[in-house]
Amino acid sequence: PVVLGIESSCDETAVALVATDRRIIAQRIASQDEAHRPYGGVVPEIAARAHAERIAPMIAEVMNEAEMELGDLAAIAATAGPGLIGGVMVGLVSAKALSMASDVPLIAVNHLEGHALSPRLVDEDLAFPYLLLLVSGGHCQILRCEGVGQFKRLATTIDDAVGEAFDKTAKILGLGFPGGPAVEKLAREGDPTAVPLPRPLVNSGEPHFSFAGLKSAVLRAHESGLHSTADIAASFQQAAIDCLTDRLERAIESGGNAPSLVVAGGVAANASVRAALEELSQKHSMRFVAPPPKLCTDNAAMIAWAGCERLGQNDPLDYKARPRWPLDPEAAPARGAGV
Ligand code: ATP
Ligand code: MG
Ligand code: FE
Repeated sequence: PVVLGIESSCDETAVALVATDRRIIAQRIASQDEAHRPYGGVVPEIAARAHAERIAPMIAEVMNEAEMELGDLAAIAATAGPGLIGGVMVGLVSAKALSMASDVPLIAVNHLEGHALSPRLVDEDLAFPYLLLLVSGGHCQILRCEGVGQFKRLATTIDDAVGEAFDKTAKILGLGFPGGPAVEKLAREGDPTAVPLPRPLVNSGEPHFSFAGLKSAVLRAHESGLHSTADIAASFQQAAIDCLTDRLERAIESGGNAPSLVVAGGVAANASVRAALEELSQKHSMRFVAPPPKLCTDNAAMIAWAGCERLGQNDPLDYKARPRWPLDPEAAPARGAGV
């Protein structure tokens, strides 16, 4: 069985065909970086328009490449949230139209579940439960993944997501958009111990993350004129990593333990982050699983895979796009902050 996946929740238009035996049969991804670069961040209206222009031809391309007809599909899976609502609607409406035309079931996918299950696409031995660090542009959470649709949130950020901190640091240092990869590259030339930066909430009794203070400290370090941008980038990256590993360690020691430690989301593409987490997992005798970098940042293979995991589901054609959609709806707000 083969599932078509459609992703349009942020600034990547992506489509993919994935088989339940984990083969990625065809995929296309169109980044909108050029369109958003002049604004230094994603502009929702530009994103929605770009998705609308590209999505239909991209779907036709993967179907042609795979020499498949719509009727050959087991399901059509599309991101239904959370994300920028205009973009989500473009992808979801496209999926609904194809589903209606072909009678192939629609599966509405939570984008975060796409990230959360992506490690299982590349590692057939990764069974539930696993401990997941979900680190992306909009989220920074530790989750215990107990099954498809079964997530216990152990920690979240009380302010910025860690990917957001990378993006803001890039902006402060004049590295442009998108920020994460640029900070990682420059950090390789710097000294991670050169600039004293805070590690918010490290050793705290509460389980959560915080990155706003780190970002402000980066701004002050840059404005002081005392440090090279490479040293600031390297010191920022190290501080962010120290926050991630400290909070994970706390989660592992307070009941979040599982056979595997898994990382997903755009920040999981960072080689230093991966190395630190691998070391942490060895220390706690956990298996470490990280998808290849291209499956960490937004893509449609993870959405198609989530559809494979949910095969049998048949969502109604009036399914609503959701700007917010927590993986663990039971989780209490962290200090009244976001999900
Ligand atoms: P969400 O998934 O929370 O809705 P999103 O879809 O925008 O947000 P992703 O595409 O999963 O986020 O990840 C993008 C984020 O990952 C950005 O903040 C980006 O800076 C960061 N990122 C990407 N590559 C790297 C890297 N090599 N190092 C650090 N951060 C990175
Ligand atoms: Mg992007
Ligand atoms: Fe994402």
